[in-house]
Amino acid sequence: MPKALLIIDYTNDFVAAQGALSAGVPAQAIAPRIVALAEQFRAAGDFVYLPTDVHTPHDPYHPESKLFPPHNVRGSWGRELYGPLAPWYTEHQAEANVTLFDKTRYSSFAGTPLDLWLRERQVTELHLVGVCTDICVLHTAVDAYNLNYPLVIHQDAVATFKPGGQAWALEHFKTVLNASIV
Ligand code: ZN
Repeated sequence: MPKALLIIDYTNDFVAAQGALSAGVPAQAIAPRIVALAEQFRAAGDFVYLPTDVHTPHDPYHPESKLFPPHNVRGSWGRELYGPLAPWYTEHQAEANVTLFDKTRYSSFAGTPLDLWLRERQVTELHLVGVCTDICVLHTAVDAYNLNYPLVIHQDAVATFKPGGQAWALEHFKTVLNASIV
């Protein structure tokens, strides 16, 4: 049965040293592993999705405006994919099983067609990688759990900036969301 890899928010603003909300070195270190997994899924004929945060700066109606500085603004450097994932995506973006899409909330399911796409393709297993482990990866995992998708979390391909956040989230995925941690 088909599987899908979700590469969550792996952009300059969340990963690069000069990014607006960067998770820093731990996030930069997972780049080769993310690209290797993307290539593995693509080559196997499975699906690769890149749910990517997008914002209008200073949107007074968006809940994140009260919490965070402007980030992942459409068309900006900060919203470009980070490091080696950028050329990988450029090379494969025309392929039917590689899809980057906008999201405006932590969860990749909130206000997006992701659940419809996964059901159309009869995807039966979701693999999550990207940033931040305890924010957007977590909220995506919670929604996936509620929708009954079996989850696999790649612990060598998720990262966060919060001390303790990585270990807490991995434990939560395993013991509360019944995810496989690999
Ligand atoms: Zn955001």
